[in-house]
This record gives sequence, structure tokens and C-alpha cells, in this order.
Amino acid sequence: MKFQELKIEKNILKALEEAGYEQPTPIQQKAIPPVLDGHDLMGCAQTGTGKTCAFSVPIIQRLCAQGETGAVRALILTPTRELALQIYENVCQYARYTRCTAAVVFGGVSQVPQVEALQRGADILIATPGRLWDLMGQKLVSLDKVECFVLDEADRMLDMGFFPDVKRIIKYLPEERQTLLFSATIPQEIASLANRLLKNPARISI
Ligand code: AMP
Repeated sequence: MKFQELKIEKNILKALEEAGYEQPTPIQQKAIPPVLDGHDLMGCAQTGTGKTCAFSVPIIQRLCAQGETGAVRALILTPTRELALQIYENVCQYARYTRCTAAVVFGGVSQVPQVEALQRGADILIATPGRLWDLMGQKLVSLDKVECFVLDEADRMLDMGFFPDVKRIIKYLPEERQTLLFSATIPQEIASLANRLLKNPARISI
């Protein structure tokens, strides 16, 4: 199978080609069509399977189709700064020939450059829960315009004790949105969160 067959647009295909991606991985083959169609998704997959591209490419394409607003329209929550940076770099790569912009926020470093990046306008925000909640408290981030929410590595979030922050953040998201949840394992707490968050989701297991 080729990326073209997944109805990905030229400007994104070009970036994928430059990244050296010749064909979609299994999770990309399965996840890209439902996410492009606007469906919710429950993905049981680990890092290393190509899941970042699987969720970010269709999000970029959907946001591009709507034009710009300057507001955060996609929020990707992930547990660690390493993952946040990795996702940010990938998103920037995939979106480099589009007008879609991204910013990343995580704890342990000064918030100033992160806030400046946000103020320049970011369509996609990649964040760790603690720093995001902190910035929300300072009214430096608004989630009012979020149309797509990705909860990445949900089981690790749980293990690292981030669920209270995650749950608080979710309350500030618009009810009407697309939600994608990724987890390598599905313990009871993740299953019940998925039940509450996802509406008629496509289910993918790799
Ligand atoms: P991820 O699971 O998203 O962390 O991706 C793991 C690694 O695979 C990253 O280095 C990606 O750049 C790479 N990758 C993702 N999709 C593809 C693909 N279709 N072809 C080749 N490499 C890929």
C-alpha cells in the first residue's frame, strides 16, 4: 500500500517522502482513514509502530482543509518531555509544506519561550499535562477552539500519576470534538476513561 491510497494530500506526501517514509506502517494504514473521516479512535499500540504519523498526518490534513484561525485546534497530551519533543519535531516535519503550525509545552524549563511560541499562533499544541494545566491557570492557553484531542500513552500517564491533571484538562475541552486515545495496554481505568471519552470509536490494535 502507498500513502497516496490513504487520500493524503500532495503537500503532506512530499514531506513524508522527504522523511524517507516509503509506505504506511500497519497502524498508519488502519488509523489514517477513520481519523481523516473525523471518527474517534481507540488505538492499542506502542511507540515505534509509527503511531505519531498515524494520528498527526490526518489531523494536519483536516486542520489545513479549514484554513487558519490562530487558535489551538488540536491538542496532543503525552506523558514526558522527550515524547512531547519527538511528536513536535515529527508534526513540524509532516506539516512543513502546509500552513499548519505547532507549539510544544512541557515542564522543567522556563515557560517564557513556550508561551511566546503559543502567542505567535499554533494550530497544534503538544503538551505534558502538568505544564499545560499550569499555563491554563495563568490564562496563557485557551482550549475553547480544540476540535481534536489526542491522549497519547494513556497507560503511562496513569502510571506516572498524571490522571488528575488529565481529567482536569479534559473538562476544559469543547464537548463536540474528535478524540483519539492511544495506550499500549488497556487496564480497567483506561477502559472506563475510553468509555467516557470516545463516541463510537474505531478500534485498532497493533
Ligand atoms: P513512532 O512510533 O511514531 O514513535 O515512530 C517510530 C519511528 O518510525 C520514527 O522514527 C518515525 O519517524 C518512523 N516512521 C514512522 N512512520 C514511518 C513510515 N511509514 N516509514 C518509515 N519510517 C516511519
